[in-house]
Amino acid sequence: RRKWRRAVEMLQEFEEGCATSIGRLRQVVDAMAVEMHAGLASDGGSKLRMLLTFVDNLPDGNEKGTYYALDLGGTNFRVLRVQLGGRGSMILSHQVKHHPIPQELMSGTSEDLFDFIARTLKQFVEQEDDGSEQKVDEKKELGFTFSFPVRQMSVSSGILVKWTKGFSVEDAVGKDVARCLEEAMTKAGLNMQVAALVDDIVGTLALCHYYDKDTVAAVVIGTGTNACYVERTDAIIKCQGLLTSSGGTVVNMEWGNFWSSHLPRTSYDIALDDESPNSNDQGFEKMISGMYLGDIARRVLYRMAQEADIFGDDAYNLSIQFIFRTPLMAAMHEDESPDLREVRRILTENLLLPHVSLKVRRLIVRVCDIVTRRAARLAAAGIVGILKKIGRDGSGGVASGRTKGTPRRTVVAIEGGLYAHYSMFREYLNEAVVEILGEEVAQNVVLRVSEDGSGIGAALLAAAYSSN
Ligand code: ADP
Repeated sequence: RRKWRRAVEMLQEFEEGCATSIGRLRQVVDAMAVEMHAGLASDGGSKLRMLLTFVDNLPDGNEKGTYYALDLGGTNFRVLRVQLGGRGSMILSHQVKHHPIPQELMSGTSEDLFDFIARTLKQFVEQEDDGSEQKVDEKKELGFTFSFPVRQMSVSSGILVKWTKGFSVEDAVGKDVARCLEEAMTKAGLNMQVAALVDDIVGTLALCHYYDKDTVAAVVIGTGTNACYVERTDAIIKCQGLLTSSGGTVVNMEWGNFWSSHLPRTSYDIALDDESPNSNDQGFEKMISGMYLGDIARRVLYRMAQEADIFGDDAYNLSIQFIFRTPLMAAMHEDESPDLREVRRILTENLLLPHVSLKVRRLIVRVCDIVTRRAARLAAAGIVGILKKIGRDGSGGVASGRTKGTPRRTVVAIEGGLYAHYSMFREYLNEAVVEILGEEVAQNVVLRVSEDGSGIGAALLAAAYSSN
């Protein structure tokens, strides 16, 4: 009995530690806008890297012709072909093919890796049996989504800073990956050039903008999290003299690394960070993205098991990092059966905890709710922070550059498994955006779910930057 009281007490402490009152969220909004400023003022001026993409021209639906994309960002790569019909007819068709990358190529030489990719791409191009008008020997244009840290030099070139996600093709570091690919394509006898080299978040923005020209930002909340948006070129102080035809440039925020003392952080978050391979890094990501939410909840439950004995003697599995994955957590959280049957099933099958009482199952659902609600509300504050920076949050700040008048419609593309498939997360996020902006302003802000379209987005950017 005393132990149960301790469990309830721990739950309350955790809930207080995760509190996201509207006042707190407004502080996070302001901190995001301030850090964006700082990151645009100088390199290293903020934890937000605010990377220039040199994309100043987003596709708008008028593009026409056949374009290709290559998406490299994990253990698979994808090749795509997109046929664009120009104004009115939009995307006529697209084909995608996934290929696993042979393990040995992930740690071999850059020549072997790019040769392999170029050969695969060539095969894909040759399988063209779609009756498109493209001439065989015409130069083809490719959008290259390369989701590793790159120092961009132009819209179609960039130097690899370092590999992540299990790759270690060391001789590619410091090289322009677009040129590496082009050399390999030439060698393979493929007449194709890289028209755009982009991070996948920029592809997401491009795709959403193609359908809806009011799109100003894109956010991905999946395993990890990031955001990009269209900034006024003259507000990018660290790159004075940059000229763009549209007056705007897409900035890749790398917002997973955002940090502010206003973020509600608990001892569980600190422990998670300490035990991670990248401690002190990606602080925002560790509070809001799918890779971590389940593990925050697991840490709370494990400490309850130790201090309040809520699981008897069988809690060993809860000591294993990342055993409680976010989709499992979502399934428990969304269990609507009165006796929490799904929660019992997951506890039994996935955590080998077969005899958990209904009372404790309810407690577990509460923990999931607290973790997810905090994550969703902080992500919402981040989004409003972007809107504030570009004067679309209704506050009519100096940054807006517009006189008072009719409010402008503002669209934010959101992608990623957490937002797309975890409905409680999505509801909490949507609700918090309205809460922060107020009903009236929120009416002009549309959060638009975009299903994994960064590959198509890259092909659209190839079209927008095509030299044909
Ligand atoms: P990635 O970010 O890995 O490229 P996704 O955008 O599809 O790919 O996101 C996958 C992540 O989304 C998973 O790691 C998981 O954390 C989360 N996720 C996927 N499905 C669900 C779900 N039903 N409920 C909660 N989280 C989910």
